[in-house]
Amino acid sequence: MQIYNTLTRKKDEFKPRFDGKVSMYTCGPTVYHYAHIGNLRSYIMEDVLEKFFRFSGYDVKRVMNITDVGHLTSDGDTGDDKMLKGAKREKKTVMEIAQFYTDAFFADCKKLNIKTPDVVEPATGCIDEFIKVISSLMEKGFAYEAGGNIYFDTSKLKQYYVFNDFKEEDLAVGVREGVEEDTNKRNKADFVLWFTKSKFDDQELKWDSPWGIGYPGWHIECSCISMKHLGEYLDIHCGGIDNAFPHHTNEIAQSEAYIGHDWCNYWFHVHHLNTNSGKMSKSSGEFLTVSLLESKGYDPLVYRFFCLNSHYRKSLVFSYENLDNSAVAFNKIIAKIATFVKDDKGEIDKAKYDELYNSFKDALDNDLNTSLAITALYDVLKADANGKTKVALINEFDKVLSLDLVNKAEKLCENNEEDDIPADVMELVEKRKQARAEKNFALADSLRDEIAGMGYVIEETRQGTKIRKK
Ligand code: AMP
Ligand code: ZN
Repeated sequence: MQIYNTLTRKKDEFKPRFDGKVSMYTCGPTVYHYAHIGNLRSYIMEDVLEKFFRFSGYDVKRVMNITDVGHLTSDGDTGDDKMLKGAKREKKTVMEIAQFYTDAFFADCKKLNIKTPDVVEPATGCIDEFIKVISSLMEKGFAYEAGGNIYFDTSKLKQYYVFNDFKEEDLAVGVREGVEEDTNKRNKADFVLWFTKSKFDDQELKWDSPWGIGYPGWHIECSCISMKHLGEYLDIHCGGIDNAFPHHTNEIAQSEAYIGHDWCNYWFHVHHLNTNSGKMSKSSGEFLTVSLLESKGYDPLVYRFFCLNSHYRKSLVFSYENLDNSAVAFNKIIAKIATFVKDDKGEIDKAKYDELYNSFKDALDNDLNTSLAITALYDVLKADANGKTKVALINEFDKVLSLDLVNKAEKLCENNEEDDIPADVMELVEKRKQARAEKNFALADSLRDEIAGMGYVIEETRQGTKIRKK
């Protein structure tokens, strides 16, 4: 497989360190609020990547953290504590907030058919590991104490900016955002490993440490949780593109300083989902969640399908119009599958199967090109092959796409009882669907009348077109 690697800034051949095994780490959610559908775009695409590794025969171990402490509103260690803000907003304790939104996150993932990683570890469960690694960084001279906090000293590294050629002066994150700069730091790029002299006096979660009572910085958690479960070598690390700097840059700095050698070979970053007005937000504009989409009648898997239609390395604009288009296309696919799902006569056409299978695999082998993989699915729908061959292929593709394709098609068959609807009526129904897809509403209306004249009522629902006897 060729995969774009942010570290080398090119597509690389993916070769895990140990034959047949992939160790994979994903930055998990900060559980101070619901995930927005932008966050979930990242998790959908990472899920596709994991499933494609498995599809390709790898034995995958995937680990994800849950950020329930240490993440401030600015990734540069300034601003407010996100968890504390969430707790104040809802007048609950930080741990109550963390539990509630962790559960909400996994409920959303379930609706989107996102598999739960093999290991899920909350940051608050690993305080001893953080202290062990920070102590070692202190001993090795990579960390220092200033103003009560422990900082990582980026000047001790040969190269700190591994992903980009940043300039120091561009790095005044705090200054740029109008937040006071931390005067304790020796170098602008230094970051906090352990807070003690926190500006958050009312910080609920604090632990004893060799440097005083306090709590960990955000970046250290991912390094430690990854190393705890996956050892000193990691094959691939994932996250949204905003994580590349400073979060992942800091993870690499502290992990490699700690273990004394290269840590992770491949860095996979998903680009952002934006709205027409710009950045996706939890606090301003419409807070776009899976539940909101459901309340408007959308099947969450339509959102997954919408994401799969574009490449993970391109930013994607969300609008209801775009989602509606995806819903129409998705329902057409299901309706098409429904026409041959029960046709299990004959044998699988091996030559046809291999050809179509390979075009699907080739698409994903080329930097996880999911939109081409969807094209490969369309090719199956229109292929000159029997139903058995098509259903076998679709079931195989769906191990990666996870759109419940055959299941939904079977349900549609049951609902529509299309078998009882005469072929000439079904033909008009198909024509009408086509007319609607082409936005030829005048033709669609006249076909509806014609169908009505034959004694059948046609209804458009979010789940697709339904036909019943008058
Ligand atoms: P957070 O809960 O803020 O720690 O973010 C969870 C994940 O969502 C991280 O991997 C982020 O990089 C990613 N993310 C944040 N915003 C977006 C967005 N608009 N589109 C895609 N991914 C995002
Ligand atoms: Zn992380």
